[in-house]
Amino acid sequence: MGGYCGCMEGVPESVAVIPLAGVKKSLGYRVPPEMAGRVGVGSLVRMPIQRRSELGVVTALEAPGDFPFDRLKFIHQVAQPFPVLTPDLIRLAEWMAVYYSTGLEAVFEAMIPAAVRKGMKPKEKRFVRLAGELDADVLAALERRAPRQAEVYRFLAGQALVKEVPRETLLKRMKVSAAVLDSMAEKGILDDARHAERRLAYDDEWGDAERVEGSETAHILTDEQRAAADGLLEALGKRSFAAHLVHGVTGSGKTEVYLAVLEEVMKSGGGAVFLVPEVALAPQTVGRLRARLEAASGGRTVVWHSHLSDGERFDAWHALATGEARIVVGARSAVFAPVPDLRLIVVDEEHEPAYKQEETPRYHGRDVAVYRAHLAEALCVLGSATPSLETVRNAQTGKYALHRLMKRVDDRPLPMMHIVDMKRELAHNRAPTVFSRMLIDKIRDRLEKSEQCILFINRRGYDASLKCPDCGYVAMCDHCDLSLTHHRAEHILRCHMCGHEEYVPRKCPQCGSPKIVYRGSGTQKVEDVAQKLFPKAKIVRLDADTMRKKNLFRAVLGDFRRGKIDILVGTQIIGKGLDFPNVTLVGLMDADLSLHLPDFRAAERTFQILVQVSGRSGRGDEAGEVVVQTFIPYSDALQAARRGDFEGFAEGELAQRKEYGYPPFRHLVHHIFRSKSLEKVKFYAEQWTKKVETELVPTVPIELRGPAPCPIERIKDHYRYQLWYFTPSASKLMPKLNALRAKFAWDREVIEVVDVDAVNLI
Ligand code: ADP
Ligand code: ZN
Ligand code: ZN
Repeated sequence: MGGYCGCMEGVPESVAVIPLAGVKKSLGYRVPPEMAGRVGVGSLVRMPIQRRSELGVVTALEAPGDFPFDRLKFIHQVAQPFPVLTPDLIRLAEWMAVYYSTGLEAVFEAMIPAAVRKGMKPKEKRFVRLAGELDADVLAALERRAPRQAEVYRFLAGQALVKEVPRETLLKRMKVSAAVLDSMAEKGILDDARHAERRLAYDDEWGDAERVEGSETAHILTDEQRAAADGLLEALGKRSFAAHLVHGVTGSGKTEVYLAVLEEVMKSGGGAVFLVPEVALAPQTVGRLRARLEAASGGRTVVWHSHLSDGERFDAWHALATGEARIVVGARSAVFAPVPDLRLIVVDEEHEPAYKQEETPRYHGRDVAVYRAHLAEALCVLGSATPSLETVRNAQTGKYALHRLMKRVDDRPLPMMHIVDMKRELAHNRAPTVFSRMLIDKIRDRLEKSEQCILFINRRGYDASLKCPDCGYVAMCDHCDLSLTHHRAEHILRCHMCGHEEYVPRKCPQCGSPKIVYRGSGTQKVEDVAQKLFPKAKIVRLDADTMRKKNLFRAVLGDFRRGKIDILVGTQIIGKGLDFPNVTLVGLMDADLSLHLPDFRAAERTFQILVQVSGRSGRGDEAGEVVVQTFIPYSDALQAARRGDFEGFAEGELAQRKEYGYPPFRHLVHHIFRSKSLEKVKFYAEQWTKKVETELVPTVPIELRGPAPCPIERIKDHYRYQLWYFTPSASKLMPKLNALRAKFAWDREVIEVVDVDAVNLI
C-alpha cells in the first residue's frame, strides 16, 4: 500500500471541503481529533450541510475565509481511507466546471466512480501460510498429540510454489475445523494473513486470441522510432508540462514508441494514463501494453472501461488510489484515474470522435488529458496516423512538439489504394451495385491465395442528405459549405448551421436526372451480396450490434486471426488498431456516406476513415491493396488519401476552415434548447439570443449563428433549437456565458445544454 500523502505533513485542525452536491463553493469544517491522521487533501468525507449529511472532497488543510474556528462544524466521517482525488484532479475539476459550463458535482461524478462514493470497501480474504519449517522432533511430537494439525502442516509444506493458501480452501480441502487452524496459529506454526481479494476483470480476458506472440519483448527501434522516443524521453526527464504529437503512418510502430516512454515512467516509479478510444475495440493494444509493462515493472496495469462491474471498478480504482498499481489503460474516463505522481498521459488515436463525451459533462478526453498534464506538470503524448486538424494546428503554431514516423516498420509498403468510380459501374450494370467489378476480381484473387479481406461499410452515414445517383451531386447550403438535410415530412432542404431552406428539386440541378433519391446499403446487405458472389467463402459480419456481445466480438477476432474466416464485414469502427498480418485487401464500400454529413468536419472524417481502414491492409509480408468505391472520385479527401498525402490534405482543409472561421481557428460552442412546447423553445431560444447579443457580443469576441431548428428537430417529443457561438477564446467566453446563463429567467419547461468544442453537430 502506498503512503498517505496529505496528512503526513501535519495534522490539520480544519479543512476546506467542496461538497459533491448542492453548494457550489468550498466550505470550512473541523476535523475531530479521532480522525486527525486520516484526513488529507483528496479525502472523501461526510459532513453536515443544512442538517443533511453530504459527501465532499477535502481540497485544502485549512478552512477557507475567516469564519470563526469555534463555529465550524465537525466532519462526520471519512468515507474512504485513501484520497479519491489527486491535487491535480481537484484543480482539473474546477477548470472543467467553468470551461464545459457544468456543475462541479457533475464533474466529480464523472471523476469518482459511484462505487467509491457509495463507500464500497475492498473485499478481504483470509489466507494462511507456514511460519517456518518445523524441526523433526517437534513434528514428531505434533504427529502424536495433534495428528490433524500435522496433516495440515505436511500439506502446506508440500505446496512448493504456493506460499499462501486461502483459509476457506484449506478448511474444505483438509476437512478440518477452524479450531485446528486457530490452534496452529496460536502455536506459531501458521501465519494468518488478511488482504484484499482482487475482483479483477481482464486477467484472463485477453486470452490467446489477442495475445500477440512475442509481445512481451521490446523490438529494436527503427531510426525514426528511436528519434521520436528520444524526443519524448527528453521531455519526460524535464518533469514539466509538454505536449507532443506522434504523427506516424499506420503500421509505423507508434505503440512501440509509447512503450519505450511508459517503461521509463515505470522504472522511475511514476504513474501513467494510457487512453484508447474504446477498450473493447483495442484488445490487441491492451494485450501488448499489459504484457510489456507488467514484465517491465513487475507491477499491475489496471484496465478501465465501461463494462466493469461495480466491484471490479472499485478494485481497479482502489489499486490506483493506493499506489498499488501505477498505470491505467482505458477509455475516455480513465483520464480521471487517481494515478499518483502522474508523469505521462498517452492519447492514442487522438483524432477519434469517441473521446468526446456526448452527455454531461460534455468534455473532450484529449483536451482534458492535455490540461491535466499541464496541471500535473506531466508529459502528454498524442498519437495518430491522421491527427485532428485541431492538433495539427497546435503543432504548427509550436504549442505541441511534433515527431513524424513516415515509414512502416521493416519498410513494408503502404497499401496501394484504388478509387473506383461507381457511376461507371452503374452505367455498366444499369442498376445500383454493391460490389464494383474491380472489388469482385480482387476478392476472388485473395480467396484463391488464401489471404484475407476486410470490407468496411460506414454506417454513420446520415441518410437524409440529398444525393444524385447519376452524377453524385449533393445539395449544399449557399452560405455554409455544408450539405442540406432532407426533411421528408415538410419536403424541404434545410441547413442546420444557419437555418437556410430550399424546396426539394424534382430533378438533379447538375445533370437533370430525375433519379435524385437517397439509396444506401448497410453491413447486412453487403454480407448477403458477398455470400451470393462468393458462396464458398466464410464470411462474418461485425458491427455495433455484435460488439455489444463482448465475447462474440473477441471470438470472431480470434477466428479471423486463426484464418477460419475469409472475409470480415463491418463498420469502420471495428477497424481501429487491428493488426492482422494476413489481410491483404480492404474494401471501403461507400466512401461518400461520411463525406455528406451536415458537418464541417465531413471531409476530415472521410480522410481519416480512408487512411485508417486502409492501414489494416498489408501489415504482414505481402503488400496490401485497398479498393474505395465512390460516386465522387475527384473529391480532395479521397485523392489526398490515395496519395497518402496528409500534409496536402491538411493544408487545403485548413485554408477553408480559416476562411469560414471554423475550428481550429475559432472555438465552436453549441447551445441546444429543447422543450415539449415548440412555441416555448423557439421563444426562449430567440430571447436568449437577444440577451447574448446585447450583453456578450460587445464584451467578448464572439460571433453568433442561429437560432435555428436542430437537424433532428424533435426527439422523444421534445422540439430542439440550436445556437452557435464562434469565438477565438473559449476560456474568455465561458465564464461570462455561464454567468449570463445563471441569471437568465429560463422557463421550467425549457431544457438548455451547452456543448463546448462540439464534435457531434447533429
Ligand atoms: P501503429 O500503431 O503505428 O499502427 P504498431 O505499433 O501497431 O503500429 O506496429 C505495427 C507492427 O509492427 C506491430 O506488429 C509491431 O509489433 C511491429 N513493430 C513495431 N516496431 C517494430 C520494430 N522496431 N521492429 C519490428 N517490428 C516492430
Ligand atoms: Zn445529377
Ligand atoms: Zn447554411
